[in-house]
Amino acid sequence: MSDINDEKSALLRCAMPVPLRKYLDYLPPEDCRELPKPGSRVRAPLGSRVLTGVVTEIVGSSSLETGKLKPVQAILDDAPLIDSRVMDLLCWTADYYQHPPGETLMLGLAPGERRGEAPADSGQPGFALTTRGRGLADDSLHRAPRQKALIAALQGGPKTRADLSDAGFRPDNLRRLKARSLIEPVVVKDAGNWVIRTPLEPNPEQASAIALISASLGQFGCHLLEGVTGSGKTEVYLHTIAATMAKGQQALVLVPEIGLTPQLLQRFEERFSAPIVILHSGLGDAERDRNWHRARLGEAAIIIGTRSAVFTPMLAPGVIIVDEEHDASLSQQDGLRYSARDVAVKRAQLSNCPIVLGSATPSLESMANAQGKRYQWHQLTRRATGAGAPQKHVIDIRGLALRAGLSSTLETSVAGALSREEQVLLFLNRRGFAPALRCLDCGWVAECRHCDARETLHRRPPRLQCHHCGFREPLPNRCPDCEERRLFTSGLGTEQTEQALQDAYPNVPIYRVDSDTMSGRQAMASFTNAVARTGPCIMLGTQLLAKGHHFPRVTCVGVLDADAMLFSPDFRGEERLAQLLTQVGGRAGRADRPGEVLIQTRHPDHPIIRAILETEWSALATELLAARKRQGLPPHGALAALRCDSPDPDTGLSFLQKLAEQPDPTGVRSTVRIVGPLAAPMARRAGLYRSHLIIAGSTRGAVQMAVQNLVGNAMGQRLPSGLRWFVDIDPTEPL
Ligand code: ADP
Ligand code: ZN
Ligand code: ZN
Repeated sequence: MSDINDEKSALLRCAMPVPLRKYLDYLPPEDCRELPKPGSRVRAPLGSRVLTGVVTEIVGSSSLETGKLKPVQAILDDAPLIDSRVMDLLCWTADYYQHPPGETLMLGLAPGERRGEAPADSGQPGFALTTRGRGLADDSLHRAPRQKALIAALQGGPKTRADLSDAGFRPDNLRRLKARSLIEPVVVKDAGNWVIRTPLEPNPEQASAIALISASLGQFGCHLLEGVTGSGKTEVYLHTIAATMAKGQQALVLVPEIGLTPQLLQRFEERFSAPIVILHSGLGDAERDRNWHRARLGEAAIIIGTRSAVFTPMLAPGVIIVDEEHDASLSQQDGLRYSARDVAVKRAQLSNCPIVLGSATPSLESMANAQGKRYQWHQLTRRATGAGAPQKHVIDIRGLALRAGLSSTLETSVAGALSREEQVLLFLNRRGFAPALRCLDCGWVAECRHCDARETLHRRPPRLQCHHCGFREPLPNRCPDCEERRLFTSGLGTEQTEQALQDAYPNVPIYRVDSDTMSGRQAMASFTNAVARTGPCIMLGTQLLAKGHHFPRVTCVGVLDADAMLFSPDFRGEERLAQLLTQVGGRAGRADRPGEVLIQTRHPDHPIIRAILETEWSALATELLAARKRQGLPPHGALAALRCDSPDPDTGLSFLQKLAEQPDPTGVRSTVRIVGPLAAPMARRAGLYRSHLIIAGSTRGAVQMAVQNLVGNAMGQRLPSGLRWFVDIDPTEPL
């Protein structure tokens, strides 16, 4: 820390948690002895409030006159809470995504830290003997053997609540001893031993990937690990992490969904006896605060988390792994719109460590980087357990009668698998009972009053619900337009199919997996456990079921309706569909039994359907990339959008029009193509009209400059009431 007397004019440049597109300068506090280091928190006044912000820089002068500057009220940290590399990462993120820096920097803090609390204690809550407890005579407590055993267990040192409960001690044992002042609550630290158990012997493809990645520890490099489902990618991660831990360094593992963490965690815990922490929005604040701080102190060997965990502080970052790197859930769709995968690559670069991007169906962006030799490309082409690749077939369902959404061909396969005591996975990417409710007489269709979208009919409990804004309303008993009583549903959702399957297979357990049945914290874990224990069964689910899970006994996979996803307005639609279908297909025949994938469609000759049947992902990706190149779409060229939400259709469009018409003396906008303003594909959502301006250019740099110019124009405008605008760089939402 520098002495304040040497730096009379020193000012604190701070990121404050407000949607301002700038850093704010403050004077040091009046009684300041030492200036804070960048990355430390301060409490500072802003308008009529006092907020917790982060010092980003000590500067000598401000654009504001010194007389107008206010002092911060307090410096909260002696040492920076955000280290310089994460600080650089956050500033880069704010810059690249052109998002208010104050809001962005808050992602570098745990929830409690954002509120100004001290960092959580890193240990686990537990118990230790008091002086009285240690001095207890041997012959006491003979009438309470459990309490006596507990005292004995604590003789060796403090133990965590969790360990005591695992050892069979009940809360009332603890309470009794505490009431007698024999034990007391303490915080138990980890012993810090990192133990790596014997790994599986890697096959040659795995061995090559492991060797190349491990050899690159300590320096930046991107590795694309492309491997079909079950080819042993996770095993490669585990070996790489072992090599990292052997150097005393930490591993950060990002996964797209909370639901994927329990299975991964279990495998990691089997391999490593070392502190592994998880970080995702399903955890309570206290647990997140503690895990965050344990990562910061270097106690946690492995951090597994969803996208915002990319900003987790780490004492010694050694490797970053992004599993299912193609998955759209790694991109944040509101507030700061960022791709956790892309930020992770930047983080690896700033940390001088390798990053491994793994997938059975890598994104076209990553495929292009691998083909262009910017990423090292490792391919695992065979299933690690020796199972063959599944057989894929298309079932043309034009004109066929379906039962529970299943053609007779699919039914035969399902029955065959069940009779061989094997499991079945059916994929239907639509939850609820039916996607539409209609009037028999006048053609009325139930629509959401807040969105340009139909409502889905749910039976349990009965309601109409919009899947875009969450709006719910009771089922009407007659048509609101013509009073007709005969209303009917069209289309199939998972709820209806589940019922029909229960009728068709009364003796087979049926598991429905969608966001309605999997909303609880433990739901996904208990479902996967149940399936692992049970015999023949049918799993029916949405894309929740398509991702990353291991169902070794599934041999029959049916896609009930591939067409629902076939004609998407989004330029990524085909890539997404092909990824999803390949991922679903990958669930079949993972262990020692061959699998079968049956895809029902009314468009058996659609190029994507054909390609999924006939080619490998990398061949298909090459084709899709060629098409992107012809169209000048990412990853060839760059894309951004300036988006608007407004309470009526015209305000947003005319606001964007005005921005695009401002003079452009420096000519930055002439180097890109500006399209629009346009209404978004779903023009009204949750009561707001959505519009956007698309900025397309041949390089990211050109797009950046043009967006900066438009943002400058937007900041110079008076905002019409109710209008909000925001920047979306490398957008993933349909344009
Ligand atoms: P992925 O992550 O690519 O889906 P996994 O790493 O989960 O693949 O491996 C799939 C299955 O193969 C797992 O049951 C795993 O234990 C097993 N496996 C992976 N690598 C090997 C190996 N080298 N030898 C034997 N079994 C392996
Ligand atoms: Zn009607
Ligand atoms: Zn709605």
